[in-house]
Amino acid sequence: MTNEELWKAVLGQMELSISRANFITWFRNTSIVSNQDGIVTIGVPNGFAKEWLENKYNLYILRALKGINGDIQTIRCIIAPEKLTSSLPTVDSLKNIDAVKSPETVGFVRKKLIEKPFFTESDPSTPLFHETNLNNRYTFENFIVAENNDLARAACYAVSQNLGTAYNPLFIYGGVGLGKTHLLQSIGNEVVKNSPEKRIKYINSERFTTELVDSIKSQKIDKFKEYYQQMDLLIIDDIQFLSGREKTQNEFFHIFNSLYQLNKQIVISSDRPPKAIPTLEERLRSRFEGGMITDISRPNFETRVAILESKITEKGFIIDAPAIRFIAENITQNIRELEGALNRVIAFCEFHKISPTLENTEKILSQLIENNKKTIQVDDIFRVITEFYNITKEDIIKKGRKKEISHPRQVMMYILRTELQTPFSTIGDILGGRDHTTALHAFEKINKNKDSRPRLKEELNILKERLYYPV
Ligand code: ADP
Ligand code: MG
Repeated sequence: MTNEELWKAVLGQMELSISRANFITWFRNTSIVSNQDGIVTIGVPNGFAKEWLENKYNLYILRALKGINGDIQTIRCIIAPEKLTSSLPTVDSLKNIDAVKSPETVGFVRKKLIEKPFFTESDPSTPLFHETNLNNRYTFENFIVAENNDLARAACYAVSQNLGTAYNPLFIYGGVGLGKTHLLQSIGNEVVKNSPEKRIKYINSERFTTELVDSIKSQKIDKFKEYYQQMDLLIIDDIQFLSGREKTQNEFFHIFNSLYQLNKQIVISSDRPPKAIPTLEERLRSRFEGGMITDISRPNFETRVAILESKITEKGFIIDAPAIRFIAENITQNIRELEGALNRVIAFCEFHKISPTLENTEKILSQLIENNKKTIQVDDIFRVITEFYNITKEDIIKKGRKKEISHPRQVMMYILRTELQTPFSTIGDILGGRDHTTALHAFEKINKNKDSRPRLKEELNILKERLYYPV
């Protein structure tokens, strides 16, 4: 295995373990510079990346390396001159710079490594170029249709054949790794194929926000709007990240309206239905609900087998049927994980020159499957609640009855009870020394309301999903 292949396998695993935004920010333009005497030296583009890889991701990286080659003992990072790193091929997923979606990635690194300028230097009033941001690896042809996604797929396909007239807007929602981005991009690629003259833009809502903010700062907001308003097809991925950003929502609303009035197609995805996006402006919500909304759910066993088989063929590999069934039985949450597990099996077998029998596959995946089953802790619940409601742990613990805080706090109490069977007195203690009756009432309230309020129920489902299957 060359250093390049080794690093590619590690990146494949890192991609599964950390958020996509972090993955792209910290692992872009990295490579293995040398691998000698159990020491792997990783070349990184700057001091920030060095610090993060060494301090935060050290263990993950080492674990992934050891999983492939048990002789590796230590890693170290060096700042490699750009020439060296940029001449190396990067993993495909790193090329898709638009997948950035987390606010953690702002600042120097993002500016420098990820963003392309929206306006040219010489003539700051004209957009630099029109980029569709489409990745041609996502097509309808290589999308497996099954009971969990057939409606969404049909709606996307219809839209690609009848821009602006079939369903507008089209809103697709579903959990992570279930194929939303794949479908959205397939629409774009299909339109490019059939009508290359159409103007298409695929963008993630975080990137959209960043561009918008930049254009406001440099007083180019009119140009920004004008640019977006010319699109025949505007695809916004992961719209949930727009929530809470008033100014962005406002501008987006105007762009949305003008496209909509001209019968231009708008396609949107989210990890949850419009109703369950906490701070989505009412007028945007009702616009979204005025179109077609459809979901992608988790794949069942047969679908997982079919997807594995198709990916194996795509990669030109052969895996024993019982081994395929084993993977499909044990990796159940989403398709991204399924692909990750498959890549791991392939990389390991190629490296050790062994065949992917059931026995070997069980061994290779044992750790991964074990991790998936890990039991959750109080801190996991804190993490999920604070991330979902965009509040801090202190907010939850300290006194205060504002609804933005008291609701998450009650939900937290409910989840502590249902998921960890924590006694009410302990729940009170965990949440800043509150009385056990407070915890009891919170639990009863949420428990009662969840059956009559679909939005609350949806919220609880998402929270549980994130608890057990962190991104
Ligand atoms: P999401 O955007 O919902 O998080 P993605 O579209 O990124 O998920 O899908 C995760 C991975 O799984 C991608 O590599 C994608 O190509 C693959 N995938 C998802 N659904 C399917 C499917 N039905 N057929 C083939 N590949 C799929
Ligand atoms: Mg996606």
